[in-house]
Amino acid sequence: MKTNLNPNANPVPDADRAAKVAEGGFGKYYTDNMVIAEWVEGKGWSDAELKAYGPLTLDPATSVLHYGQEIFEGMKAYCQPDGGVSLFRPTSNAERFNRGAARMALPEIDVNDFVHAVDALVKQDIKWVPKNIGESLYIRPFMFATEVGLGVRPSNRAAFLVIATPASAYFNPSKAVTVWISTEYVRAAPGGTGAVKTGGNYAGSLLAQKQAAEQGCDQVVWLDAIERRWVEEMGGMNLYFVKGSGKSATIFTPKLTGTLLPGITRDSILTVAKDLGYKVEEGMLSVEDWKSGVESGEITEIFACGTAAVVSPVGAAKSAQGIWQTGDGNPGPITMQIRETLLGIQHGTIEDKHGWNVRVSS
Ligand SMILES: *Cc1c(COP(=O)(O)O)cnc(C)c1O
Repeated sequence: MKTNLNPNANPVPDADRAAKVAEGGFGKYYTDNMVIAEWVEGKGWSDAELKAYGPLTLDPATSVLHYGQEIFEGMKAYCQPDGGVSLFRPTSNAERFNRGAARMALPEIDVNDFVHAVDALVKQDIKWVPKNIGESLYIRPFMFATEVGLGVRPSNRAAFLVIATPASAYFNPSKAVTVWISTEYVRAAPGGTGAVKTGGNYAGSLLAQKQAAEQGCDQVVWLDAIERRWVEEMGGMNLYFVKGSGKSATIFTPKLTGTLLPGITRDSILTVAKDLGYKVEEGMLSVEDWKSGVESGEITEIFACGTAAVVSPVGAAKSAQGIWQTGDGNPGPITMQIRETLLGIQHGTIEDKHGWNVRVSS
């Protein structure tokens, strides 16, 4: 698959774009262009086209609108000290996208073609990449079923698109996230699609998120579907628990059982924490372990991680078993150290020992 360039002839004027990038936020403005490619069973992928960002025209019977056969990715491009731009671990996103495609009976896409399409869009719209540390261009590749018809079957047609939006550092260091631990609703069950970035997982989570808000909490924490006991994730982010403090601390995260989404930030933090000299552990943590760990002081810090917010401290937790607080509501030292190390690698101010940054071509 080649990406043919047919860029927007009327890009947003410089001053207007600069104002939009400076306004910050997340997902309010999109860059001048997008990439789109189409797949037909038996024929494979067409070439991709980079063209002006704009609405799609879909038949009302397009299968994704009825049966939700779709996947997406979230990744970022970061400004570098020399003025260049790098993508963070784009091959990992491409590989996860293909695992998701396989699970959702959608076609796979060559990893190099995926990365090339992303690279082409960021290169074309490079002026949309914010310059400050913590800011980035958030990139959303996605694929959906385009067969027209209400028959329930794997679609014989699909579309692959890439769009991008400037993202500010949405991190408020003085405010830890509060969480509602849901025992009524579950996000994912064994054999289901919890390990896939597919819209249906999100659609099914919104009511619990609403309940969390009614409980005065910012986010919902998901437990395993069977025992409703084992901590899995927080909203659309993975969770980390710091046990102990200082150099002898252990950085713990729930292991990937098949119902958790394997976050690339989660994976990067396992490596970064080891590089910083901490012990890391993947395992099972129950709600009782969380409560008693916080109360005994064994658990000293908790944070959530994902591409969008990178690292966010977690404070109070509320559940049917009561309410308990971690720390004083401020991010702990290890949370901040991990956040700053990862952001430093992403922005090229800390050595990228693992070859995670991929330069956008110029
Ligand atoms: C995307 C996502 C994450 C985080 O993955 P990253 O690759 O780190 O962005 C975690 N949980 C869920 C449910 C997600 O959809």
